[in-house]
Amino acid sequence: MPTFTNPTDIARETLKLLSTRRVAPTPENYQKIYSEVSGAPVGAEAQSADKALQKILQELSRKNPALRQAVAVIDKAIAEHDWKGLESGLSDLVGLPGDEDESWANLIRELLKQWELKQSGLSVARKRDGLERVLINFASNPQILHKKLQALVFAWARNPVGQAGGMLDDETPATEPQLAQEQPAARTNTLAVSANTLLKENFRLLREMLAQALETGIVPRFTQFPELAGEANQLAVTVRATESPAELEKLTKLLKQFWVKLELRGESDALIMDGLLKLLGLLVKNISELSLDDQWLHGQIAVVQEIISHPLSPRVIHDVERSFKEIIYKQGALKQGLNEAKTTLKHMVTTFIDRLGEMSSSTSEYHKKIENYSLQISKTEDINQLNRILENLMADTRGMQADMQRSRDEIEETRRQVDASEHKIKELEAELDRTTSLAHEDYQTGTLNRRGMDDAFEREFARAERLNTPLCVALLDIDYFKRLNDTYGHEVGDEALVHLVRVVKEALRPTDVIARFGGEEFIIILPETGIDEGVNTLTRLQRELTKKFFLHKNEKLLITFSAGVALRLPVESVDAIIERADQALYRAKAAGRNRVFPAE
Ligand code: GH3
Ligand code: MG
Ligand code: MG
Repeated sequence: MPTFTNPTDIARETLKLLSTRRVAPTPENYQKIYSEVSGAPVGAEAQSADKALQKILQELSRKNPALRQAVAVIDKAIAEHDWKGLESGLSDLVGLPGDEDESWANLIRELLKQWELKQSGLSVARKRDGLERVLINFASNPQILHKKLQALVFAWARNPVGQAGGMLDDETPATEPQLAQEQPAARTNTLAVSANTLLKENFRLLREMLAQALETGIVPRFTQFPELAGEANQLAVTVRATESPAELEKLTKLLKQFWVKLELRGESDALIMDGLLKLLGLLVKNISELSLDDQWLHGQIAVVQEIISHPLSPRVIHDVERSFKEIIYKQGALKQGLNEAKTTLKHMVTTFIDRLGEMSSSTSEYHKKIENYSLQISKTEDINQLNRILENLMADTRGMQADMQRSRDEIEETRRQVDASEHKIKELEAELDRTTSLAHEDYQTGTLNRRGMDDAFEREFARAERLNTPLCVALLDIDYFKRLNDTYGHEVGDEALVHLVRVVKEALRPTDVIARFGGEEFIIILPETGIDEGVNTLTRLQRELTKKFFLHKNEKLLITFSAGVALRLPVESVDAIIERADQALYRAKAAGRNRVFPAE
């Protein structure tokens, strides 16, 4: 048989042989003769290729439902000889994620994107809800989880972005969307199109995060070092101006240099902090050695030493500041007392010397006069004249006696004043000593002191735990107290403190506890009190204070305070709850004072 190479010749020869051999013109017979004419065993290979393709398609369709869908489309296209359908089916198949990892990566990217988009009718809470439900129900099976997550994300994506009106309410619930199965081609397209936008968006997101880290993380921490803060700001501006990852990468050198500078700065900050702490320790030790006799000061110094022996924190620094403020105030009071006593003593000594001088000069004058009188007496013979001399002598003697009496009275009075001052100093010192003794009361205001407060906390916390009742702690601080002191003097300030405590105590329940936390700050423990009631109580105290004025020399002085109120959390420590109340107090001050804020 001649060999044919041209397909048209092969086909013609095949048809000829079909007729000459008188075999039925079936596709199988045609294929058999065709392969005989062309000399190639096409039939067998084509069959095995066909089988191999089918086998692969079947394998694929077992892998996941999305692939099964795509394979079904291909099968249908082949059966119907729909070659366009086959082409699009195959390209869908090629576009589908076959690789597990990559498909997860794409899914997570798409999930992040849809999470951040604000679709109308789909709140973040609702998204979270849906996501949590899918995670809870399908976490044990990664394949199903993948499918469900995909379906969830595409249900989110169906909602129009940023348009008014909800769409989701009358549709399939967000957790069980059917869309993935219904529209595989649309899903594939979305994934393909979004891959590029995702990259761009991720870049923009990362770029913004880096800029914000510089602006909000670095700049505020380096206000003391304007060059560093300025550099961070400038870097943030440059980072924002980059248009591509490649441009951003060019900045890495600058960024690395900047991080190194920060690191160096951080190290020297730690050294400075360490050095300052050592200095403070030394100072405190010195003060305590200088004032060996002063029991009160000793107690306070011990408190400060104890505080700085723990790791530093804002709370610790605040406590040290409080203690120091108290030391400074008490020292001021003591110094004032001592100064008064010193002035009085000086006055007494001056008076005494003056009087002594006057006395000695008047006595020597008297002596001279006496001598003069005795001379006159010895010379005179005239009784009348003698009488006159004696009368003068008597008058002079009486004058001198009066002088002496006056001096004695004055000296006596001054000595009395010195005694009184001395007594006052003793009292003051005793009072100061009492503050560090075992007493539980603040000597000045009659509230509990820190020691008493600690005991009260222990007692009330235990009781609240036992009875399972709520408990609030309030920290109040008088507003602008320094101004009151500066305007009217410390004594008036002291009276104002006593007044405040009196009003507060009258308005509180007997079971509530008030303790002096330091200076013009007080802690109030409110057992069996929820947060709303706690805030209301403190607000009521504020109203009481505006009703019951503090009177100074018939002048009505308005005292206000700011307060933070914290509801105790389960097993919360004293320090922690005070810290929270303090933060709320800080916010109350910052908001303009004379306010009560609940703690977070
Ligand atoms: P504000 O709390 O509203 O921010 O202002 P303030 O002026 O009250 O603030 P600061 O805490 O700085 O000042 C409190 C002042 O209270 C400092 C101190 O002189 C004074 N002080 C502290 N303890 C006493 C005290 O026992 N008696 C008197 N008279 N003054 C005290
Ligand atoms: Mg204060
Ligand atoms: Mg104050």
